[in-house]
Amino acid sequence: MNSDILVLNSGSSSIKFGLYDGDDEGLPLLGHGQIEGLGAAVRLRAVDHNGAPVVDKALGEGLDHGQAMALLVAWGREREMAREIAAVGHRVVHGGTRFKAAVRVDTAVLAELEQLNPLAPLHQPHNLAGIRTLAELEPALPQVACFDTAFHHKLPPLSQRFALPREYFDAGIRRYGFHGLSYEYIAETLPEVVGRAVAAGRIIVAHLGNGASLCALRGGQSIDTTMGFTALDGLPMGTRCGSLDPGVVLYLQDAFGMSRAEVTDLLYHRSGLLGVSGISNDMRKLLASDLPSAREAIALYTYRINREIGALTATLNGLDALVFTAGIGERAAPIRARVCELAAWLGVRFDAAANEQHAPRISTKDSAVSVWVIPTNEERMIARHTHNVLNERTAT
Ligand code: ADP
Repeated sequence: MNSDILVLNSGSSSIKFGLYDGDDEGLPLLGHGQIEGLGAAVRLRAVDHNGAPVVDKALGEGLDHGQAMALLVAWGREREMAREIAAVGHRVVHGGTRFKAAVRVDTAVLAELEQLNPLAPLHQPHNLAGIRTLAELEPALPQVACFDTAFHHKLPPLSQRFALPREYFDAGIRRYGFHGLSYEYIAETLPEVVGRAVAAGRIIVAHLGNGASLCALRGGQSIDTTMGFTALDGLPMGTRCGSLDPGVVLYLQDAFGMSRAEVTDLLYHRSGLLGVSGISNDMRKLLASDLPSAREAIALYTYRINREIGALTATLNGLDALVFTAGIGERAAPIRARVCELAAWLGVRFDAAANEQHAPRISTKDSAVSVWVIPTNEERMIARHTHNVLNERTAT
């Protein structure tokens, strides 16, 4: 009997999924895909481990998470007659102060996680909707929540604090950090790519996707990161503003008469690359555009990355390596080139040819700080955590 691990990442308009062979310690990927267009024209696409198409079909109009998940389960049952899913691992953005590692979800855990919805209003409710729907469809199936915050739970005390009175910190208003599953994957992959000595040193990882953040690693542990209490902080992102003087939020409400919902929409959906360019949140479109506003958006993006690299280098007391990852970090050579150019003050010597090829190492041999491109794999990390949680349970 196979005992596969299904990984689910439920977002606002899509459910991404991957199936891993749980009988093999290496957890090889069997296939992956997504349901996209939730709320509109919903499609199911999947490919096998070689990238060969397995399915690409319309599921219907206006389906919500629950309906789409039910169709996914039905499709899975039809196809995978001979295989058994042992557990489902979910990406959950916020674990709050309590959840410092992946956890098996029961009704009590789910209720606690729901209380964290206001801390990640755009992600957490969708993540949890996936768990709730599956619990109704398949009550006996073990479900494991894997948190974006967990990797940062040992942040040093000063990295966790806002300069607010202590009682607010005690009430959970603190810096948590996100993209932890990505940083954990990179931290584990680093020794084989950059060598043990460098991997144990002072490293900044730049996770540049639709969401974007930087993480300062020392000895493979997160010691600071640019995202804080919510996934709004730090770098400008596709549609999110990044760090903002908190006075702006007050002013928008007072002087512009904006409601809480309108401010939320502005900061989460209408800012960042989209807001500055007025064109798109898609870096490919901005790079292809000649419009001054597109150039300005890219210039601000890279300026802010350089500024945050400076801040984290100060925290680390120097820098040994810089790593780019996620959609933009892995594929947008001109963005990496500009960030490296701006980081020349750190002793970064950039290898333009290697950068064009997205080579693992994009700095020259004499560069004081080595620079790398390492593809991230959050789904694999979720599969691993889920496998571990399941085996701990089975063992006791
Ligand atoms: P998510 O955070 O949703 O997982 P990704 O890590 O897939 O997002 O990153 C999405 C971003 O990567 C988008 O801004 C997209 O434009 C950008 N991107 C993807 N491919 C390329 C490419 N070839 N060149 C430039 N940018 C790219």
